[in-house]
Amino acid sequence: MYCLERGPVDDRRPIAVVAALHGDEPCGAYAIADLLATDPAFQRRVKFVVANERAMEAGERYVDDDLNRAFPGDPHSRSHERRLAARLREELADAEVITFHSTDAEPTPFALLQNPSETTDAVVRATGLEQIVDISYVDGGLEDVVDGVAVECGPMRTRGAAESARGILERFLTARGALPGAVEPVDLDVYRVDGVVDRGDLAFTGRNFQRVHAGDAFAVDTTGDDGEITAPEPFTPVLMATDGYDDMLGFQATNVGPLSELEP
Ligand SMILES: [Zn+2]
Repeated sequence: MYCLERGPVDDRRPIAVVAALHGDEPCGAYAIADLLATDPAFQRRVKFVVANERAMEAGERYVDDDLNRAFPGDPHSRSHERRLAARLREELADAEVITFHSTDAEPTPFALLQNPSETTDAVVRATGLEQIVDISYVDGGLEDVVDGVAVECGPMRTRGAAESARGILERFLTARGALPGAVEPVDLDVYRVDGVVDRGDLAFTGRNFQRVHAGDAFAVDTTGDDGEITAPEPFTPVLMATDGYDDMLGFQATNVGPLSELEP
């Protein structure tokens, strides 16, 4: 784990920018390196963390376990990622956190959260993104144990993901008072995950964030046995991708409206 701190210590909580939670998603690490190369005048304490350096150097998602399913972690575990999860949790305990990922699910970018709070509201509104997925339905992610959000910046293994991460990082740090300048916070559409399509043998034919009506086809069985897969009930697909997960197609969600209109 690489950790570098910049900016003055004051009575505000530090910001933590976390990259490479998944070793095969280095977009955030590129964005951090690119930003620091410009030697900006930070006006608030920021911790830059490259989480799973070992997996990143190997070009793998993880060494022993998926780090984003390894929380709360265990400092004495034999698993590299379970030890790392415990260290990360300690490092990020007092911070407002943003984590950078890339994904095979389209379109990007969008944000993810697990524990809605005043901080997650402020953090996500600083990103400039238009959609956020509340994935509280799933256990064990980083956002389950820290105060912050994750951002899916762009497609896996692309320069575009790194460029997207760079833009989001600068906008976010400016909006949160860590970089000079001013940007307006935005409102976002909120999607709450309430189900999963747990088949890894499907090809996704719908579009994420676009509602599938009852009876509409949204996937095809790649083995050819079941043909088109239709929705028994309406839902909105999120994080669905043909090759995104081994054991599932992705998640079903409900659009619950703009963030500004939700109960705090
Ligand atoms: Zn990831």
